[in-house]
Amino acid sequence: MPDTTAQIAPTLQQFSLLGKTALITGSARGIGRAMALAFARAGADVVVNSRSEAGSQRVAEEIRALGRRALAYEADVSDAAAVDGMIGEVLKEWQTLDILVNNAGITRDGLLLRMKDEQWHEVLRGNLNSAFHCTRAVSRAMMKQRHGRIINVSSVVGIMGNAGQANYAASKAGLIGFTKAMAKELASRGVTVNAIAPGFIKTDMTDALGPEAKDTLTGQIPMARLGEPEDVADAALFLASDAARYITGQVIVVDGGMTM
Ligand code: NAP
Repeated sequence: MPDTTAQIAPTLQQFSLLGKTALITGSARGIGRAMALAFARAGADVVVNSRSEAGSQRVAEEIRALGRRALAYEADVSDAAAVDGMIGEVLKEWQTLDILVNNAGITRDGLLLRMKDEQWHEVLRGNLNSAFHCTRAVSRAMMKQRHGRIINVSSVVGIMGNAGQANYAASKAGLIGFTKAMAKELASRGVTVNAIAPGFIKTDMTDALGPEAKDTLTGQIPMARLGEPEDVADAALFLASDAARYITGQVIVVDGGMTM
């Protein structure tokens, strides 16, 4: 009988994050938490971030229970100074940061005619400015080490638009342009930059939808179910791993076939 473990080992190694460090913004809940746990299971040490100290600490404990190192930071990533402080401390503590996932995001839905300035700016700050702050803060270190993975969490709404989400759609479409510009700036330094565009995923963000809205949405999904946070986390794991070394500037849609 052939030793199957030995046979698949080189393949698995390509997906390993052993010895890598990752910062995932907005990782106290939902998709970010699923990514943090998936990365830790693949061997990474993970920085957990959110605006809640308790939430970040909880996920950091889950990561430590998996045998990996974890740091928890309460920081609002829409605030450039808070981001510079957090990333400065991470680099001091761990010397290196291999993977950044710009995942933190919010919605403040409303039809354009009734949309307040603050509703627009808050979403752009939380979803787009945040990625600019974090990417700027890590890119020097990643360029210097000639290795890095940056993953921006966009949305199918940034590709298709959605009535009542002009602010959110603009921020998520902006992230796609940002991804491509950064991919071109950083490619020669060994840093890849990609985006993931999830469809409708079961988290607190979509919990507010009533059962009827969920049924209507499910009817538009060829795979006939809402996504799980882990469905998105696995795509991120691939992009973060060595298996995706020649992929940059791309948008991977994780939506059960909704937008094809
Ligand atoms: P979620 O359950 O609401 O979780 C969002 C996370 O981000 C929380 O941990 C939240 O923690 C944190 N956060 C929000 N703003 C932050 C800020 N300014 N600074 C630091 N942390 C912040 O959302 P989710 O559904 O997992 O969504 C994650 C990402 O996927 C978002 O970018 C979202 O737009 C995108 N997405 C989601 C779906 C979906 O169907 N769920 C679909 C497409 C795209 P605190 O509130 O404690 O700060």
